[in-house]
Amino acid sequence: MPDSVDTSDQKFTRETITWIYPWTDHLFSFKTTRPQQFRFTAGQFARIGVEKKNGEVVWRAYSMVSGPFDEYLEFYSIVVPGGEFTSELSRLQTGDTLLIERKNHGFLTLDRFSSSRDLWLLSTGTGIAPFLSMLADPLTWESFEKIILVHSVRYAKELAYQKEITGLAQHEIFGEYAHKLIYVPVITREELADTLHARLTTLIENGGLEAKVGISLDLDKSRIMLCGNPEMVTDLRKVLKNRGFKTSRQSAPGQIAVENYW
Ligand code: FAD
Repeated sequence: MPDSVDTSDQKFTRETITWIYPWTDHLFSFKTTRPQQFRFTAGQFARIGVEKKNGEVVWRAYSMVSGPFDEYLEFYSIVVPGGEFTSELSRLQTGDTLLIERKNHGFLTLDRFSSSRDLWLLSTGTGIAPFLSMLADPLTWESFEKIILVHSVRYAKELAYQKEITGLAQHEIFGEYAHKLIYVPVITREELADTLHARLTTLIENGGLEAKVGISLDLDKSRIMLCGNPEMVTDLRKVLKNRGFKTSRQSAPGQIAVENYW
């Protein structure tokens, strides 16, 4: 197994890509070695750097998919056509290296909330990444009675990690908690049995999501995280605000925490 290389006084370490898995032609996951000192809370993100041919380094934020106790780091990435970072990233192979900032970042973490009964994790596209990290942390399972994981994509083939999520019941560590999880795939541009087919905003407005799950959104019992497409985050926040939900802040705890991906 290749090692993480500590670049002494730099603000980053150099990590080796150990695994790459393409989900579609524009979505893939990859694992890297984990810097020894790199600690994070489930839901946080790393800053990853790739070196261009001219030597310039391009940095972008990437949520960890892997859990805080895994020995490797795993990420789930889009490939943006012509995107400065992902054009370089998607060319890398197993054995190649990239840079990872020593510092962990982000506030999409469970400590934003006071204790409650249900955790709603609403994501679009690669925005499911931080929620997968949370499902890899025993603390998440111990903190809630129900965890509702909603993943909205355009096409069924973009439902990455579906097998891993539905297979949690057989997981050696998390299997005992898996009955708490309700997984809701949402597909907006295709009809498929057992999935919902509208924008998340519509599904909250018309009660379709709550009906599907069999649990109501409730100011006391629900804590809600939104991650992914900024338009979804803004629109959904408005809809939830109309129902009395508030963004959680240090000075004033609320029920909502969000992460915009661009
Ligand atoms: P950019 O120039 O950065 O983006 C160009 C355009 O591509 C954007 O304007 C937007 O329209 C679109 N775009 C960017 N990112 C995405 C995306 N993830 N899904 C769909 N469309 C997108 N990206 C990931 O793939 N996985 C992650 O786990 C992830 N975590 C992030 C966490 C944070 C806190 C933030 C702020 C962003 C995160 N991103 C993630 C986005 C990522 O940082 C880059 O934007 C992405 O890799 C594209 O980089 P680029 O230079 O190729 O294109």
